[in-house]
Amino acid sequence: MTQKNTKIWREANTERVRASARKGVRKYTQKLKLKVVEHYSNATMECAGCGISDIRVLSIDHINGKGNLQRRKIGVRSGHMFWSWLIKNNFPPGYQVLCMNCQWIKRHTNNECNQKDNSVLDV
Ligand SMILES: [Zn+2]
Repeated sequence: MTQKNTKIWREANTERVRASARKGVRKYTQKLKLKVVEHYSNATMECAGCGISDIRVLSIDHINGKGNLQRRKIGVRSGHMFWSWLIKNNFPPGYQVLCMNCQWIKRHTNNECNQKDNSVLDV
């Protein structure tokens, strides 16, 4: 297909192009997540708290808490931006894999939900 033909085809199939782009992004972010979870779970692909291995609920937890503040500091807003930041920075230490339940439990236990102290960052 010539470049001109490709352009015409893409214009005629915008919905298909968009859908496949979305699919591509999802696939790409899934890959990032798998890579990061694999590293921080020591390849067990499990939550460090309860051992659940459902990738859909697993996330990267900042061991010392203040994950949100740290993410703001490095300027990443969404999960996949954070995952690619971790990869680009050669998997910095201080993180673990937790499921959403264990994250909430940890936050509650450490009282991180009421944290108003934005000044101190121990990263
Ligand atoms: Zn868990």
